[in-house]
Amino acid sequence: MRVLGVEGTAWCASAAVFDADADSVDIFSEAYEPASGGIHPREAAEHMREHVPQVVERALDSADGPVDAVAFSRGPGLGPCLRIAGTAARALAQSLDVPLVGVNHMVAHLEIGRHRSGFDSPVCLNASGANAHVLGYHGGRYRVLGETMDTGIGNALDKFTRHVGWSHPGGPKVEEHAKDGEYVEFPYVVKGMDFSFSGIMSAAKQAYDDGEPVENVCCGLQETTFAMLTEVAERALSLSGRDELVLGGGVGQNARLREMLAEMCEARDAKFYAPEPRFLRDNAGMIAVLGAKMAAAGDTLDVEDSGVDSDFRPDEVPVTWRDDEDL
Ligand code: ATP
Repeated sequence: MRVLGVEGTAWCASAAVFDADADSVDIFSEAYEPASGGIHPREAAEHMREHVPQVVERALDSADGPVDAVAFSRGPGLGPCLRIAGTAARALAQSLDVPLVGVNHMVAHLEIGRHRSGFDSPVCLNASGANAHVLGYHGGRYRVLGETMDTGIGNALDKFTRHVGWSHPGGPKVEEHAKDGEYVEFPYVVKGMDFSFSGIMSAAKQAYDDGEPVENVCCGLQETTFAMLTEVAERALSLSGRDELVLGGGVGQNARLREMLAEMCEARDAKFYAPEPRFLRDNAGMIAVLGAKMAAAGDTLDVEDSGVDSDFRPDEVPVTWRDDEDL
């Protein structure tokens, strides 16, 4: 089976064809980089309008043969972007006369880690721009075991770097500067299984305004927020009795976060897997891979029921492509 994936939830216009028989996927992406400030929904939608057709054409040209289904990110994401990518996917499925598959973007971040690692039933830490949550499978759904009470982890880092005057995206710049920094303490906010980043961001901005070297602020920011994520991921492993952890989302490209999670897993004799960067940040490869699993399970959509959902939660998705419901 060959599946075309289309991704366009926020900043990344992407298309990919996954060949399930060869287990290979080629990803074609065009990033939206705001001239100043953060992601502007209207500009991001313009980016999708211009680039989704191009990346789709490149993906289809690269495929070894016709595709058997078209999968697209149904949400969560920015409404104007989702609508453009969704319209493209619907038109393609109709013109190619193949089934349409609506994929939850956050479940795709998780499933690509499960697919690439070969893990059975991992806990997943999704550390992306607009989201941060810990998921585990139970009773036919991915349950949200812990999540941010306010902003996503990547957006929080980006807000701090905007304050400093650095261009978007800020996460990689925080990582670079943190290497030369010394740890400074920031509020550590974990409540039960949930976490919060907005107070830390305000404290980081304040510390910078008060003259703390930016390298030290970046170091303190990373150590604090990543320790919070690691603590909750560890508790999720402990409470669920699982011994496999996968990482998802663009912030997962950060080497320090991966190091902390790997150390935690080693200490508790659990396995840890972080996909390669092209599968961590937003990408259509993960949409095509999960789309193929869903299509094989017959989990397809009629065009009239294929509306997008900017608040689409992972725990709303009935997991039709796994047969181990009682884990
Ligand atoms: P979501 O998947 O929740 O819709 P998103 O669309 O913003 O989020 P992602 O590609 O998953 O997209 O993540 C982008 C985020 O990753 C940005 O906030 C960016 O700053 C952050 N990021 C990228 N590289 C790094 C890094 N090396 N360290 C920390 N953060 C990073």
